[in-house]
Amino acid sequence: MECSKPGCENEAAVRLYVPWAEDRVVCTAHGRALVQRDGVVAEPIEGSEENWR
Ligand SMILES: [Zn+2]
Repeated sequence: MECSKPGCENEAAVRLYVPWAEDRVVCTAHGRALVQRDGVVAEPIEGSEENWR
């Protein structure tokens, strides 16, 4: 599974639950950036935990 950010070809490592938009899967870097926004919840995709931590 690839990161859903346009132009990003990294492997997706986390699923983000975004209150103001659809759920999405993103790579570790994008996940870390987005999860600091209010209300965003990140859940590691199964098998990708070590990438996320
Ligand atoms: Zn990405």
